[in-house]
Amino acid sequence: MMRKPMLIALVAGVFLSSHLRAQRVAASPVPAIQGLPAAARAAAESINPEKIRAHVRFLSLDLLEGRGPGTRGGELAAEYIATQFALAGLEPAGDNGTYFQRVPLYAVHTVEDKTKFSFVPASGQPIDLAYGSEIVAKDQTGQPTADIDAPIVFVGYGIRAPEYHWNDYAGPDGKDIDVKGKVVLVIVNEPPSDDEKFFKGKALTYYGRWTYKQEEAARRGAVGVLVIHRTDLASYGWDVVRNSQAVEKSYLEGDPTATLRAASWIQHDVAQKLFTLAGLGDLDRAIDQAGKPGAFHAVELPVRLRAHIESRVRRYESANVVGRVRGVRSTGNAVLYTAHYDHLGIDPDAKGDNIYNGAADNGTGCGILMEMARAFAQSAARPPHDMYFAAVTAEEQGLLGSQYLGMHPPVPAGQITLDLNYDMLLPIGIPRSVNLGGAERIDFWPTVERVAKDFDLAIEPDPTPGAGHYYRSDHFSFARVGIPAFSVDEGELFEGHDQAWGRAQMEDFVAHHYHQPSDEYRADWDFRGNAKLARFGFVLGWLASEQPRPIEWQPGDEFEKARKASEVSH
Ligand SMILES: [Zn+2]
Repeated sequence: MMRKPMLIALVAGVFLSSHLRAQRVAASPVPAIQGLPAAARAAAESINPEKIRAHVRFLSLDLLEGRGPGTRGGELAAEYIATQFALAGLEPAGDNGTYFQRVPLYAVHTVEDKTKFSFVPASGQPIDLAYGSEIVAKDQTGQPTADIDAPIVFVGYGIRAPEYHWNDYAGPDGKDIDVKGKVVLVIVNEPPSDDEKFFKGKALTYYGRWTYKQEEAARRGAVGVLVIHRTDLASYGWDVVRNSQAVEKSYLEGDPTATLRAASWIQHDVAQKLFTLAGLGDLDRAIDQAGKPGAFHAVELPVRLRAHIESRVRRYESANVVGRVRGVRSTGNAVLYTAHYDHLGIDPDAKGDNIYNGAADNGTGCGILMEMARAFAQSAARPPHDMYFAAVTAEEQGLLGSQYLGMHPPVPAGQITLDLNYDMLLPIGIPRSVNLGGAERIDFWPTVERVAKDFDLAIEPDPTPGAGHYYRSDHFSFARVGIPAFSVDEGELFEGHDQAWGRAQMEDFVAHHYHQPSDEYRADWDFRGNAKLARFGFVLGWLASEQPRPIEWQPGDEFEKARKASEVSH
């Protein structure tokens, strides 16, 4: 008897506090925002964290088998998302009146014990390389064997950047060295700089990414690329290079930039051996020289690369899932929302739990995408222009689904004003800060800043600008065809916690669950933060679509050229 009143008080207290909490949340999930019509605000407010939870839970069930592209689980995920789009009332915007955009792919696995590399000098003994510990490579073309016997040309950082008056392909006479049919030797990363106006200072530009170096060499008809790996310049060890090449890598069928017969990395020490063989002396001195303006020109070495590469090739197909909500006007200023739905599938060789469920990566982004699509489709007011929602495939294989969508967009790229991407947002509470890396590159930035403020979201600066995060997520696939694009991600500050707590949560996730079978759905996850950032993105998209003119890159941005070209071409 004694405990009863206490119990009542306790229950009442719990009820009261949860009621208050609910009221506080319900009071203004979307703040009043200048330029946002009341009906749009109501639609954004309808975004429901529990619906996001339901999507995330389903997509990360073991039944979905880790959603590997080209697998049954991947197809089930795509079918689920298409079904949700249909139920929400989106129009299909894929191939032939369906929600699916077919993405043809092939996966290449280098057969290590049958692959041979050697440096052959004009005179003297060739040097054989140990595959794995000294060199790794992929034949990007998807053919079973490649035989190469070609001269090696050292092109420094392998960069041609007219905006920085920089051309590593220029030979001693100032004219570009012809590298057609040859192998280019390049340094990882980009010329070191503290000057914002020169390769963006400490921040990495796309020129510093190895993907750019391969593409530039391929554009010039090179058959191979040797990237010199030096750990301090790459910011990751040789192990990372080696492990990432030990597994199969996928390519898009017909990708004009994937034509190298030998896309290779070599260890720093091996590159030094090559330098000695060529009579070029100290490699690190050459690397220093290559980073100084006017101090370098491309040079053909008196050494050939001889290689025999054997590959196991698997051809397969996956699909992007694309839906549309019609706007008041159907041309110009379309907005594209994206999130990848694929993950790493099943590892048949692993013991114990071998299903990579990918609940956070990227069940969360997909949940947000579907719930946002529903809110737009069921809004009492139609958006100013068409809204596209794309769940893309093969992100984990190198942003391939989004690359395909960028190459084959549902409307010409020049008519898409903005892409907002969502990838891996830990559902651990209500964020009070966001990460919007790259948003400062576009002229929509003042609006982004204003809306973030209205949502009580501080914008965090990129903690590691040198790591080039902007080039490692799906939004980049749209930026490279000119579409202003960035990802919406949570920062480290959450309601009721200090920043150290948020950082610890993220670090714990990365250390123990990221890209591991334990990235599983948890019943105690709090999806209110996912909902908040979905509403934030909803509002940004609406305002972007309402602007009188399409969004542009800031003058001088590396993607400005692609944007101008896309606007002329439609
Ligand atoms: Zn991932």
